[in-house]
Amino acid sequence: MTFRIRIYGDPVLRRKAQPVMEFGPFLAQVAREMIATMRAAKGVGLAAQQVGLTLDLCVIEIPEGEKEDRLPAMPLVLVNPRIVAQAGEACGEEGCLSFPGIAGPITRAETIHVVYQDVEGAKREVQLSGLAARAVQHEMDHLAGVLIIDRFSSARRAGLRPALRRLKLQAQEASVG
Ligand SMILES: [Zn+2]
Repeated sequence: MTFRIRIYGDPVLRRKAQPVMEFGPFLAQVAREMIATMRAAKGVGLAAQQVGLTLDLCVIEIPEGEKEDRLPAMPLVLVNPRIVAQAGEACGEEGCLSFPGIAGPITRAETIHVVYQDVEGAKREVQLSGLAARAVQHEMDHLAGVLIIDRFSSARRAGLRPALRRLKLQAQEASVG
């Protein structure tokens, strides 16, 4: 099973995640289906809001060739993630499964230290850099209701206005049909 990915214009993308308090078969099932949805869409990450949920939960899977040293096993399910330390800056081109056809440069921390819970509720922590660090920061933005266009320059956002209007129409059609 996969979820339908919510497109820009769907109000759930602006909602903040609620902390996950219950760990059990339901959460495990949601995580499994989010991973299947991410893989089907060929994404490197997916947050709960992108499948219409407001759980504090995201999934990440960095392709084999992109892996850097000391990366944890993928896919990575992050429940209630918090960035407790960060270092450096890196600018990279970023897209989003909720903004098909749209991408732009975003500056993010180069290295992050994240504490989170796994799908069974065990407390874990991990240090990430490169694409994995970028992906987690992107997904944690989603969990706070923040989207890539918020991180683009205002000039870039203005240039994207027609494309964003089209996406909003698509989102409306998807929610009725
Ligand atoms: Zn995204």
